Amino acid sequence: MGLIVQKFGGTSVGSVERIMNVAERVKDETILGNQVVVVVSAMGKSTDQLVKLAKEISPQPSKREMDMLLTTGEQVSIALLSMALNQKGLEAVSFTGWQAGIVTEPVHGNARITDVRTEAIESQLSHRKVVIVAGFQGITESGEITTLGRGGSDTTAVALAAALKADRCDIYTDVTGVYTTDPRYIKGARQLKSISYDEMLELANLGAGVLHPRAVEFAKNYQVRLEVRSSMEKIEGTIIEEEATMEQNLVVRGVAFEDQITKVTVLGLANSLTSLSTIFTTLAQHHINVDIIIQSTTEAGAANLSFSIKTEDLMETLKVLEDHKELLGYEQIDAENQLSKVSIVGSGMISNPGVAARMFEVLASNQIQVKMVSTSEIKVSAVIEEENMLKAVQALHNAFELSSVTE
Ligand code: ADP
Ligand code: ASP
Ligand code: MG
Repeated sequence: MGLIVQKFGGTSVGSVERIMNVAERVKDETILGNQVVVVVSAMGKSTDQLVKLAKEISPQPSKREMDMLLTTGEQVSIALLSMALNQKGLEAVSFTGWQAGIVTEPVHGNARITDVRTEAIESQLSHRKVVIVAGFQGITESGEITTLGRGGSDTTAVALAAALKADRCDIYTDVTGVYTTDPRYIKGARQLKSISYDEMLELANLGAGVLHPRAVEFAKNYQVRLEVRSSMEKIEGTIIEEEATMEQNLVVRGVAFEDQITKVTVLGLANSLTSLSTIFTTLAQHHINVDIIIQSTTEAGAANLSFSIKTEDLMETLKVLEDHKELLGYEQIDAENQLSKVSIVGSGMISNPGVAARMFEVLASNQIQVKMVSTSEIKVSAVIEEENMLKAVQALHNAFELSSVTE
């Protein structure tokens, strides 16, 4: 008898009919003799609708109250799924995050899981019940309800799989697996049989929304066997594992993209040893995540600094910089909006020089201007205008022949 964690995303529980379909998939596992823990997201787009409601009341609602509001979405789906399982003759019990023992740091909106206390779940499993857990939520040591960031139900599932030492963690979603790029937008995107934790982590961090980045981090750290698969079609998905056995020598495995990027430029920064640390420490203290950084020195000896952020953080960034103008000692700030980031990822890049050059060649031949660049051993990212994003992804996908590889 095995222990399986299954996670079903919003679309997969988006209607009564789909919840009944999920109940059937859970039942299939129990018929095989497995113990099952199920993690579910809020139904359909209900989290977005709750966000919209809050924004109608306040442009910047309290983060604590946002967590109180958003966690209700998952509470609806766990209760309905439990009823659906009962209806199919299975004994089930639903748990909110705190009932399931998901403990987080005291941060609202994007908390990290610090502990998983599995006693309650294990006790129910020993009574032969299917345990259904609300994804995306946890509780702090002092009893505050928190959320794990948008898309965080994946992380709940993998954290539970790690803590319970589950045999498998299956992420059921509205695509059949992990593709070379988002199949919704790019022609010729191809499903991968398997992908390594490191490649998947880069893709997820660089915008491939199919998995929450922290879920992949957890899976890698605790060696959880993860599979992304379809909740509708009973076909093989994509396995995420230590080393992808197939295709390991491929230079590029996937293309990720993200819109709503802003480039901020700070002009005339005092060229002292500490100016960089002061500026980034100040931004970090305000929880502003800075991505790509470029520094250049002017003839007069001052420094110009550009960095990219998510556009949603722009107001806060400008406020922080202006509030600390005296301390930071700069002349002027510029912001360029409507940018995007396009990235190619693949572990074969480590031993293949010239991949970045090829990427820039492809962008240039499509008349796409590159505004910022960043690289690591297994990825190259370029910031470009948002209106060129999909054209760039399609061109890179074609140029690196990602559609045609046979596994
Ligand atoms: P869920 O609600 O099940 O968590 P998500 O919407 O969070 O589903 O994630 C699935 C979506 O991720 C797909 O519908 C697809 O549009 C998107 N996606 C982005 N990049 C990829 C990729 N490389 N492979 C597969 N899907 C991707
Ligand atoms: N319901 C949450 C969201 O929409 C969490 C999740 O789906 O993973 O972001
Ligand atoms: Mg998701």
